[in-house]
Amino acid sequence: GKITSLPIQKQRQQLPIYSMRSELVEQIQNNQFLVIVGETGSGKTTQIVQYIKEEEINKTLDGKTKIIGCTQPRRVAAQSVAKRVSEEIGCKLGEEVGYTVRFDDNTSSSTVIKYMTDGMLQREALNDPSMSKYSVIMLDEAHERTIATDVLFALLKKAAAKNPDLKVIVTSATLDSGKFSAFFNNCPIVKIPGRTYPVEILYTKEPETDYLAAALDSVMQIHLSEPAGDILVFLTGQEEIDTSCEVLFQRMKILGDSVPELIILPVYSALPSEVQSKIFEPTPAGSRKVVLATNIAETSITIDGIYYVIDPGFVKINAYDPKLGMDSLTIHPISQAQANQRSGRAGRTGPGKCYRLYTEQAYNKEMIANTVPEIQRTNLSHTILMLKAMGINDLLTFEFMDPPSNNTMLVALQDLYTLDALDEEGYLTQLGKKMADFPMEPALAKTLIKSVEFECTEEILTIVAMLSVQTIFYRPKEHQKLADQRKLRFHHPLGDHLTLLNVFQSWQLNGCSKVWCQDNFIQERSMKRAMDVRKQLKSIMTKYGYRLTSCGSNIDLIRKTLCAGYFKNTSKRIANEGYKTLAEETAVHLHPSSCLFGKNPEYVLFHSLLLTTREYMHCVTVIEPKWLYELAPKFFRQGEGENKKQEKIVPLFKGNKDEWRLSTQKKRNLGR
Ligand code: ADP
Ligand code: MG
Repeated sequence: GKITSLPIQKQRQQLPIYSMRSELVEQIQNNQFLVIVGETGSGKTTQIVQYIKEEEINKTLDGKTKIIGCTQPRRVAAQSVAKRVSEEIGCKLGEEVGYTVRFDDNTSSSTVIKYMTDGMLQREALNDPSMSKYSVIMLDEAHERTIATDVLFALLKKAAAKNPDLKVIVTSATLDSGKFSAFFNNCPIVKIPGRTYPVEILYTKEPETDYLAAALDSVMQIHLSEPAGDILVFLTGQEEIDTSCEVLFQRMKILGDSVPELIILPVYSALPSEVQSKIFEPTPAGSRKVVLATNIAETSITIDGIYYVIDPGFVKINAYDPKLGMDSLTIHPISQAQANQRSGRAGRTGPGKCYRLYTEQAYNKEMIANTVPEIQRTNLSHTILMLKAMGINDLLTFEFMDPPSNNTMLVALQDLYTLDALDEEGYLTQLGKKMADFPMEPALAKTLIKSVEFECTEEILTIVAMLSVQTIFYRPKEHQKLADQRKLRFHHPLGDHLTLLNVFQSWQLNGCSKVWCQDNFIQERSMKRAMDVRKQLKSIMTKYGYRLTSCGSNIDLIRKTLCAGYFKNTSKRIANEGYKTLAEETAVHLHPSSCLFGKNPEYVLFHSLLLTTREYMHCVTVIEPKWLYELAPKFFRQGEGENKKQEKIVPLFKGNKDEWRLSTQKKRNLGR
């Protein structure tokens, strides 16, 4: 029978890692640091923490029980794995086994096995640098090389030096383990034997012009002509996945009862956990399952029964764009290592097939071998703010596994300096200290704090919460016109931030009703999540004693507050040229989904950039230029226009160009 039909304890014994149990236990007992390598699905994430608990490695000599922590780069993985392990142990989720992710803490005083995002553990290091609550911390999925995991490598090495009872385990699904072991004083490496079947790799003959269409065609082809077995499709994000699910539903509806059932399931971070757990349910005989997932399904979660993988070869990543002087979300080709992880997913239950929607030539010649660590490609200001808040000022001696370039650090320090989080010398200011209390990027933290001064905290809380959820509006294929009409009801003439505020306020006025959401083509689960995030943010603000006020109809205060945090994300429309960012003068565009699209105001502020066919500003609001030099004097000054009436703004920094005069102390803090 299939593994999924066995009783749960039998399932545990069937995992490849089970044959290594006693060796693992011994190595964990005898070493402070240990690296464990094993294929995805071998049982690392769910089993190792249980072995530690069963053998009571987490008990101190005086009989106290300490927590076994396990970090995950992604929130969905932390939630889904915690749920699975609570079922294996037979407890309620949140009791013996729990999880903590940003804005969602599902642990209690009885929690012994705690899954969490790497970002949350990094945050815990602020208050407890020696990790005194933990006996063992497992840095899982270390091959993903997220910034938080990379920083934790250094923080845990420090913690372990101070706290000899703390053990650190690093796990990886790929073979880059030598580097991890070298970092932790050449600690032992244990390899878990794999159990995989051959996977036939199929490439396209010509490059695909529309990978999404090609992927959906492949799904239908497999469903209609290939033998039984589930399908896994790798897509880049929520919107792409939702659209694809809808297209597949439509196509299946047209085919009707003449073809076997196709169970269509999305997987991405913003999905509620009830929906997520459906992907693990075994497929009924006679039907087929297709899972449309982000790269979360590469190594973080394992779905049994997959025989077919469709890999368009793309991933959405956040990366620093020197042309723009800021991070931009970009759809990027994957690395060869990622392509191999993806195809491997087809060979877990039996011999499988992987359809690569790119040419063999592209794989061999165009793809890079390994993914670049996040720490070397994104803005580090959040990380540096946290390190400074921990009292780590000299970034030169901080033991990064792969140190970011001086330029990357300079950009981050400049950002923090212009936000008033660091002083001239590179030390944390009072404001910087306060900003570090918030689990979010510095510009957003500053916006929240500034809202107190501008007396519009209630409104900013809502806007920030709405910004934290991905999709609010949806446009079903058969009702696109109607959906667009309904959306107009919420449009605010001054921009998208205020439109988001409108949506939230109207939803509340209508009793947070489901029917209201359906009528207005608004995702109910996004609204519920925004409400949840808002509650958590509010409790942080209350905890630190901020006064919560509302600005009523004085909405300029809201726009000013946004300028205080996001002055760097601003652009100006230049006649016949379109929008150019104020700081770098690079071309950017209004996204067609913006309520300012077609209106083209002169000065705008945007929340983020998304690069697709061109660089789009996402979530845009009209601003007045004088607010910028008033509120961000370290970034802009007022200039003389050609004629006196014209406003002119001069940026003081141009991105990474070294225009920040470095004092000796600054140089030391920067590490040069
Ligand atoms: P690894 O960390 O080595 O990739 P895991 O411990 O995550 O492996 O998974 C081991 C097995 O546990 C998987 O093959 C899968 O069958 C099962 N599993 C993991 N998570 C779930 C879940 N949420 N529901 C059902 N089964 C799961
Ligand atoms: Mg795992």
